[in-house]
Amino acid sequence: MKAAILEALEKLVVKEVELPRIGKDEALLKVKACAVCGSDIRIFHHGNTRVKPPTIIGHEISGEIVEAGDEVKNFKKGDKVAIGADVPCGECFYCQNGMGNNCAINYAIGYQFSGGFSEYMVLNSLTLRHGPVHHLPKGLTFAEGALAEPLACCLNALELSHFRSGADVVIFGAGPIGCMLVELSKALGAKKVIVTQRSEKRLKLAKKFGADLAISSKDPGLISKILEETSGGADVVLTACPSVDAQAQAIQVVKNRGFVNLFGGLPKDAPKLCIESNIIHYKEIFVHGSHGSVPRHHKRALDLIASGKVKIKNYITHRFPLAHVNDAFAAAESKEGLKVIVEDRTK
Ligand SMILES: [Zn+2]
Ligand SMILES: [Zn+2]
Repeated sequence: MKAAILEALEKLVVKEVELPRIGKDEALLKVKACAVCGSDIRIFHHGNTRVKPPTIIGHEISGEIVEAGDEVKNFKKGDKVAIGADVPCGECFYCQNGMGNNCAINYAIGYQFSGGFSEYMVLNSLTLRHGPVHHLPKGLTFAEGALAEPLACCLNALELSHFRSGADVVIFGAGPIGCMLVELSKALGAKKVIVTQRSEKRLKLAKKFGADLAISSKDPGLISKILEETSGGADVVLTACPSVDAQAQAIQVVKNRGFVNLFGGLPKDAPKLCIESNIIHYKEIFVHGSHGSVPRHHKRALDLIASGKVKIKNYITHRFPLAHVNDAFAAAESKEGLKVIVEDRTK
């Protein structure tokens, strides 16, 4: 089969490799679509302690099971499935209590487990038993199914932010995740969603996805404008961008007892967050992070997509065959569009 092997930092090579064999409790997936995630680009440039080259990355996946071992009970040959990233180990406190993305091992597809930038991939026993593997709802394309993974991460963020219908939400960043957070908040009943972002083009995009107000992050009156628009602060503020400045500003635009979610990770060399902690103290605000998701978020994301509440097709701006995976990464990194899909174009 063909696979995009990450051989070293910034060296992704499409080559012929042996088709993996499966055990009795495993399944073989023909990958139909795998989207490029911001974290794939980070791994490509900077690596990750859980990713050991040579390896195959990619974790926003859908495909068809072409072979299932005798002991696999919940899936069979011919099943079309969407797959998320984080795989609970099934044994530790976090994994047994529905918080598998906080597992110390934090198994994930495209990290310790071989990922989706490949013609075929193995769904191992752990992934089939505990992981985010769900049947693709009828009517969804494979590309749409693959995007349940990032949407699941957005659901996790809103859940940890105690999001409720009627909430005012502020989102820093209008990339794919920022726009998904906009649409998702609106779909779940947010009253007012405000987005701030540097690029004018992306501000317009955020409006298309349902933002009530889009303010340039270069606007010197940003903080006061948001406070005015939210009558003193938002219920939920999320930073969907790799910026420490955005994190500091987020803490200034949340209301008393509100929630600040640090969604986007920062580059390793980013400056430390420096804030006046009395804001947290007096306003009794909750500052927390989120990363990844757990299988139930992935299932709910698929349901939201299938019901049309989140029109995931609108995020797909680029498509490439596996042979052009490097072009796909370049397109994702150029920030020209939103989601870039690497898709199977064979019959
Ligand atoms: Zn992702
Ligand atoms: Zn665990």
